[in-house]
Amino acid sequence: MVIHTLTLGMFAVNNYLIHPPNSSKAILIDACEDYPAILQKIEDLNLELVYLINTHGHGDHIAGNKPIIEATGAKLCIHHLEAPYLEDPQLNLSGWMGARLQSPQPDQLLEEGDEISLEGISLKVLHTPGHTPGHITLVGDGVAFVGDVIFRESIGRTDFPGGSYEQLIETIQTKIYSLPDDMILYNGHGPHTTVAHEKHFNPFVRG
Ligand SMILES: [Zn+2]
Ligand SMILES: [Zn+2]
Repeated sequence: MVIHTLTLGMFAVNNYLIHPPNSSKAILIDACEDYPAILQKIEDLNLELVYLINTHGHGDHIAGNKPIIEATGAKLCIHHLEAPYLEDPQLNLSGWMGARLQSPQPDQLLEEGDEISLEGISLKVLHTPGHTPGHITLVGDGVAFVGDVIFRESIGRTDFPGGSYEQLIETIQTKIYSLPDDMILYNGHGPHTTVAHEKHFNPFVRG
Protein backbone atom coordinates (compact mmCIF):
# COMPACT_ATOMS: atom_id res chain seq x y z
CA MET A 1 0.00 0.00 0.00
CA VAL A 2 1.28 3.45 -0.89
CA ILE A 3 0.86 5.95 1.94
CA HIS A 4 1.00 9.71 1.43
CA THR A 5 1.07 11.66 4.69
CA LEU A 6 -0.37 15.15 4.29
CA THR A 7 0.31 17.22 7.40
CA LEU A 8 -1.96 20.23 7.10
CA GLY A 9 -4.14 22.75 8.83
CA MET A 10 -4.03 24.82 11.97
CA PHE A 11 -3.72 21.71 14.17
CA ALA A 12 -1.13 20.03 11.92
CA VAL A 13 -3.35 17.01 11.30
CA ASN A 14 -1.90 14.03 9.48
CA ASN A 15 -4.32 13.23 6.66
CA TYR A 16 -3.43 9.92 5.00
CA LEU A 17 -4.04 9.36 1.33
CA ILE A 18 -3.51 5.68 0.56
CA HIS A 19 -3.86 3.51 -2.52
CA PRO A 20 -2.72 0.14 -3.87
CA PRO A 21 0.60 0.30 -5.78
CA ASN A 22 -1.03 -0.50 -9.11
CA SER A 23 -4.32 1.32 -8.80
CA SER A 24 -5.54 4.87 -8.93
CA LYS A 25 -8.41 4.17 -6.54
CA ALA A 26 -7.71 5.74 -3.17
CA ILE A 27 -8.82 6.05 0.45
CA LEU A 28 -8.46 9.23 2.51
CA ILE A 29 -8.16 8.84 6.27
CA ASP A 30 -9.27 12.08 7.95
CA ALA A 31 -9.83 15.43 6.27
CA CYS A 32 -8.73 18.64 7.94
CA GLU A 33 -9.84 22.12 6.98
CA ASP A 34 -7.13 22.61 4.37
CA TYR A 35 -9.18 20.70 1.80
CA PRO A 36 -7.76 22.56 -1.23
CA ALA A 37 -4.33 21.06 -0.48
CA ILE A 38 -5.84 17.59 -0.13
CA LEU A 39 -7.81 17.90 -3.37
CA GLN A 40 -4.71 19.20 -5.13
CA LYS A 41 -2.72 16.15 -4.02
CA ILE A 42 -5.48 13.81 -5.22
CA GLU A 43 -5.41 15.58 -8.58
CA ASP A 44 -1.59 15.65 -8.82
CA LEU A 45 -1.46 11.90 -8.21
CA ASN A 46 -4.34 11.26 -10.61
CA LEU A 47 -6.27 9.38 -7.95
CA GLU A 48 -9.94 8.55 -7.72
CA LEU A 49 -11.10 8.91 -4.13
CA VAL A 50 -13.48 6.07 -3.26
CA TYR A 51 -13.63 6.25 0.55
CA LEU A 52 -13.18 9.00 3.11
CA ILE A 53 -12.85 7.46 6.56
CA ASN A 54 -12.84 9.56 9.74
CA THR A 55 -10.88 8.04 12.64
CA HIS A 56 -13.10 10.17 14.87
CA GLY A 57 -15.37 13.19 14.73
CA HIS A 58 -13.27 16.07 16.03
CA GLY A 59 -13.35 19.17 13.86
CA ASP A 60 -9.69 19.03 12.92
CA HIS A 61 -10.26 15.58 11.37
CA ILE A 62 -13.64 16.19 9.65
CA ALA A 63 -13.55 19.83 8.53
CA GLY A 64 -12.73 18.83 4.95
CA ASN A 65 -15.48 16.19 4.66
CA LYS A 66 -18.09 18.32 2.89
CA PRO A 67 -15.97 19.93 0.15
CA ILE A 68 -13.95 16.76 -0.48
CA ILE A 69 -17.07 14.59 -0.80
CA GLU A 70 -18.68 17.19 -3.06
CA ALA A 71 -15.59 17.27 -5.28
CA THR A 72 -14.89 13.53 -5.44
CA GLY A 73 -18.10 11.66 -4.61
CA ALA A 74 -16.21 9.59 -2.03
CA LYS A 75 -18.21 7.48 0.42
CA LEU A 76 -18.00 8.73 4.01
CA CYS A 77 -17.36 6.11 6.71
CA ILE A 78 -17.29 6.59 10.49
CA HIS A 79 -18.03 4.47 13.58
CA HIS A 80 -21.73 4.43 14.47
CA LEU A 81 -21.08 5.89 17.95
CA GLU A 82 -19.18 8.78 16.38
CA ALA A 83 -21.77 9.78 13.77
CA PRO A 84 -23.44 12.37 16.10
CA TYR A 85 -20.12 14.27 16.15
CA LEU A 86 -20.49 15.05 12.45
CA GLU A 87 -23.38 17.45 13.06
CA ASP A 88 -22.86 18.68 16.61
CA PRO A 89 -20.51 21.69 17.01
CA GLN A 90 -20.35 21.03 20.79
CA LEU A 91 -19.12 17.47 20.28
CA ASN A 92 -16.86 18.09 17.30
CA LEU A 93 -15.39 21.16 19.02
CA SER A 94 -15.92 23.38 16.00
CA GLY A 95 -18.04 25.75 18.09
CA TRP A 96 -14.99 26.18 20.25
CA MET A 97 -12.81 26.58 17.13
CA GLY A 98 -15.15 29.33 15.92
CA ALA A 99 -16.48 27.55 12.83
CA ARG A 100 -19.60 25.50 13.80
CA LEU A 101 -18.90 23.08 11.03
CA GLN A 102 -21.21 20.31 9.92
CA SER A 103 -20.28 17.33 7.85
CA PRO A 104 -22.50 15.36 5.48
CA GLN A 105 -24.04 12.23 6.99
CA PRO A 106 -22.06 9.01 6.60
CA ASP A 107 -22.71 6.55 3.79
CA GLN A 108 -21.46 3.67 5.90
CA LEU A 109 -21.51 3.21 9.68
CA LEU A 110 -18.62 1.13 10.97
CA GLU A 111 -18.18 -1.21 13.90
CA GLU A 112 -15.44 -3.44 15.32
CA GLY A 113 -14.45 -6.16 12.86
CA ASP A 114 -15.66 -4.40 9.71
CA GLU A 115 -13.30 -4.36 6.79
CA ILE A 116 -12.92 -1.75 4.08
CA SER A 117 -11.35 -3.24 0.98
CA LEU A 118 -10.23 -1.60 -2.22
CA GLU A 119 -8.37 -3.27 -5.07
CA GLY A 120 -6.18 -5.47 -2.91
CA ILE A 121 -5.80 -3.27 0.15
CA SER A 122 -7.83 -3.94 3.21
CA LEU A 123 -8.35 -1.95 6.40
CA LYS A 124 -9.79 -3.70 9.41
CA VAL A 125 -11.77 -1.64 11.91
CA LEU A 126 -10.85 -1.74 15.59
CA HIS A 127 -13.07 0.16 17.99
CA THR A 128 -10.60 2.16 20.11
CA PRO A 129 -12.59 4.47 22.42
CA GLY A 130 -11.25 6.85 25.06
CA HIS A 131 -10.28 10.00 23.16
CA THR A 132 -13.87 9.89 21.85
CA PRO A 133 -16.52 7.13 22.26
CA GLY A 134 -16.54 6.00 18.62
CA HIS A 135 -12.89 6.42 17.74
CA ILE A 136 -11.55 3.75 15.39
CA THR A 137 -8.14 2.42 14.44
CA LEU A 138 -7.71 1.11 10.90
CA VAL A 139 -5.38 -1.85 10.63
CA GLY A 140 -3.74 -2.65 7.31
CA ASP A 141 -0.79 -4.79 6.24
CA GLY A 142 1.98 -3.90 8.72
CA VAL A 143 0.49 -0.51 9.52
CA ALA A 144 -2.27 0.92 11.68
CA PHE A 145 -3.88 4.35 11.50
CA VAL A 146 -4.54 5.23 15.12
CA GLY A 147 -5.87 8.78 14.91
CA ASP A 148 -5.67 10.52 18.29
CA VAL A 149 -5.47 7.35 20.44
CA ILE A 150 -1.70 7.23 20.83
CA PHE A 151 1.15 9.44 19.67
CA ARG A 152 4.90 8.95 19.72
CA GLU A 153 5.58 8.79 23.47
CA SER A 154 2.24 10.41 24.26
CA ILE A 155 -1.49 9.66 24.31
CA GLY A 156 -4.66 11.39 23.18
CA ARG A 157 -6.44 13.96 25.30
CA THR A 158 -9.43 12.77 27.30
CA ASP A 159 -10.78 16.07 28.58
CA PHE A 160 -13.11 16.73 25.65
CA PRO A 161 -16.84 15.77 25.72
CA GLY A 162 -17.19 11.97 25.67
CA GLY A 163 -13.54 11.36 26.54
CA SER A 164 -12.47 8.84 29.19
CA TYR A 165 -8.95 8.42 30.52
CA GLU A 166 -9.64 4.92 31.90
CA GLN A 167 -11.14 3.83 28.59
CA LEU A 168 -8.20 5.23 26.62
CA ILE A 169 -5.64 3.40 28.76
CA GLU A 170 -7.63 0.17 28.42
CA THR A 171 -7.87 0.67 24.65
CA ILE A 172 -4.10 1.09 24.37
CA GLN A 173 -3.34 -1.89 26.60
CA THR A 174 -5.85 -4.30 25.09
CA LYS A 175 -6.13 -3.21 21.46
CA ILE A 176 -3.04 -1.23 20.41
CA TYR A 177 -0.45 -3.23 22.36
CA SER A 178 -1.98 -6.47 21.02
CA LEU A 179 -0.93 -5.50 17.50
CA PRO A 180 2.40 -6.90 16.23
CA ASP A 181 5.45 -5.21 17.81
CA ASP A 182 6.84 -4.07 14.48
CA MET A 183 3.57 -2.58 13.27
CA ILE A 184 3.94 1.08 12.27
CA LEU A 185 1.44 3.37 13.95
CA TYR A 186 0.41 6.36 11.87
CA ASN A 187 -1.26 8.87 14.14
CA GLY A 188 -3.33 12.00 13.79
CA HIS A 189 -0.59 14.41 14.85
CA GLY A 190 3.20 14.18 14.91
CA PRO A 191 5.66 11.53 13.77
CA HIS A 192 4.73 7.87 13.30
CA THR A 193 5.93 5.25 15.73
CA THR A 194 5.76 1.48 16.31
CA VAL A 195 4.00 -0.72 18.84
CA ALA A 196 7.35 -1.84 20.29
CA HIS A 197 8.61 1.73 20.66
CA GLU A 198 5.52 2.75 22.62
CA LYS A 199 5.60 -0.37 24.82
CA HIS A 200 9.12 0.65 25.85
CA PHE A 201 9.02 4.42 25.87
CA ASN A 202 5.44 5.63 26.24
CA PRO A 203 5.41 7.34 29.66
CA PHE A 204 1.63 6.94 30.06
CA VAL A 205 1.08 3.27 29.18
CA ARG A 206 3.78 0.62 29.58
CA GLY A 207 3.45 -2.57 27.53
ZN1 LIG B 1 -9.30 14.38 18.33
ZN1 LIG C 1 -6.72 15.55 16.35
